Order: sequence, then C-alpha cells, then structure tokens
Amino acid sequence: MIIVFKPTATVEDKTKLKEQLESRGYQIHASDGVNASLFGVVGDTSALDMNLLRVNDGVEKVMRVQEPFKRANHMFHPEDSVVNVCGVPVGGKKIQVIAGPCSVESIEQVTEVAQDVKAAGAAMLRGGAFKPRTSPYSFQGLKELGLDYLKAAREATGLPIVTEIMSADKIERFVEDVDLIQVGARNMQNFELLKELGKTNKPILLKRGLAATIEEWIMSAEYIMAGGNENVILCERGIRTFETYTRNTLDLSAIPAVKKLSHLPVVVDPSHAAGMWWMVEPLAKAAVAVGADGLLIEVHNNPECALCDGAQSLKPERFANLMKDLKGIAQIVGRDL
Ligand code: PEP
Ligand code: MN
Repeated sequence: MIIVFKPTATVEDKTKLKEQLESRGYQIHASDGVNASLFGVVGDTSALDMNLLRVNDGVEKVMRVQEPFKRANHMFHPEDSVVNVCGVPVGGKKIQVIAGPCSVESIEQVTEVAQDVKAAGAAMLRGGAFKPRTSPYSFQGLKELGLDYLKAAREATGLPIVTEIMSADKIERFVEDVDLIQVGARNMQNFELLKELGKTNKPILLKRGLAATIEEWIMSAEYIMAGGNENVILCERGIRTFETYTRNTLDLSAIPAVKKLSHLPVVVDPSHAAGMWWMVEPLAKAAVAVGADGLLIEVHNNPECALCDGAQSLKPERFANLMKDLKGIAQIVGRDL
C-alpha cells in the first residue's frame, strides 16, 4: 500500500502515522521526493481501512498495490482451481453444464427434466426448492419437499444436485442432501450466511450480486474461503444496468477479468441474464468462447406453465441442440464439453 502525503504535511503528521502503523506490525519505507513524499506500507494490508487512513492529517491519498483478497487471488495461487462436485471436476479442461428447471414443481417434473438434460450431456441437475422471489405473492418453492424431489431425481439419474440456500438455519440439511450449494445473487453479500458456509467443506456456487462489482463478488468468495472452505465456484448471471430490454446485462468481460484476478472456476448463467429463452443460445455460445468453465441453464418440459422463469427456460429439445453446437465452440477454444 502506498500513502502519499500533502506538500503541507508536517514531520509530526508523518511520525504519528508511522508509529500507528508500526504498532500494528507494518514496516514503513519512507521516501521524500522533490514533489511528493510517501510511505510504502509493507505487510498484509488486507485488514487496513483505506478510508480511515485518508482521514489522517497530512495524507493526500492512499493506493493499494495489491487486491484486498488473498485466498481467492491468482497471484498467490498460480494454478487454476478445480472444484470437485461428487466426481464432476469444475475448472478443468471439460466445460460442465448444470441444467434443470428454475423451480422444483413436482417429482415427475424434476425427474423428467433431469433425464432429458442428462441425455443431452448435462453434468449436474439444478432446481430451486427455496425461491427468492421479488413478490411475496409469487410461488416461493416447495422448500423441504423440493429437496426430497431433487434427491429422487438424483437417485433416478445419478446427476449431482444444485440448489439455492437462503438462510443459515438450513445449512445442516443442505450439507446432508445437496451436492453443490448455490448462493443466489440476492444473498451474495449476506456475510453471516457466507461465514457459516465457510465452516463447511461443501462446494458453493456463488452467484454475482445484482449490482456487485467484480471485486465485491470475489470478496464474497473470500468470506467463504477465509472460513476454510476453498470449494468455491463463481457464477456470472448478469448485472443491473440502464438497459431494460434484457432482464439483466450479461457481463461477458467479467469472465476473463475474474480468471485473471482469481484461480476460482467461473460458470455463466445466460438464462437469468437474458430473461428470454431465445437469447440463451447465443449467450451460452459467447460464454464458452470467452473462457467460462461451465454453464447454468434453465430447462423446463412445459415452460408455458412453469411456476417460475418459464420465459427464459429452454425446452429439452432445444437444450439438446444447444449442447451439440457448444461442443464445436469448446473445441475451438481448446476445451471439451
Ligand atoms: C436461480 O438460479 O434460480 C436464481 C434465483 O438466480 P439469481 O440468484 O441469479 O437471480
Ligand atoms: Mn430462475
């Protein structure tokens, strides 16, 4: 970290700040130039509050030379991480596709979709049991019963199951029954939930918040990792912008950015980004082309009657065709699918 002083800063201002930082275990390298004098702060500065340092008398500005995240940082972990979800490696050469309905609606629905997506080559089954809906009057999910139905679909197909957790009091049940625990966009900064998930060793699928910067998103991964759970997979699902034509704006640039900053695998959810089924195919192709390690795609056997997100759900046949097309793109970018 670099602290730049104002030309008017006094020796007392600098001495006071030096003593304060040294008492916290940092080493200070002071440099007095012709136009500016500055401190180089050496040590683990991730716990230092830049805004607080700026209020010291004589300080002009404070700059980080390193990102505030450590465990998720590519710099300290040059190898890309591969997260193992019940034998399915996420982050390796093979692009893994997670597919299934937005919500679990019945045992027949989720099992049928599971069989269809498995036949098309999906590696995992998704399905919401606890649903974070904007309106309290919308379908809220089958909750525990939904988890039971997901387990039945896993039993029938062998596909690992992915579903969203909304509160820490459900962690025990999720750890027991779910293979990949999803933290939804709306809970990306539910830090108490993240801390509790950090105490487990279950793989976590961490969606990007509705209006979260890339750094905020990685810092949320850092929360889980700081607790000792390194099994984090990031998921870009579109962000809120001024554009209203699409449900969200898929931030494709976030994929190469996150892969540069972090060693964690990144999957892309084109369904929640677009909000419209016909856009899912081109966006999924683009995601593979820019380096996504996986995709999360909503598939429903009767989207017109879906209880949630039917408009963005692919029918099983379209999903199967998309999987075929994606193979070619994966090959061009040196991946398998
Ligand atoms: C979902 O995956 O069903 C979901 C609610 O996604 P998000 O948290 O990205 O909105
Ligand atoms: Mn959905």
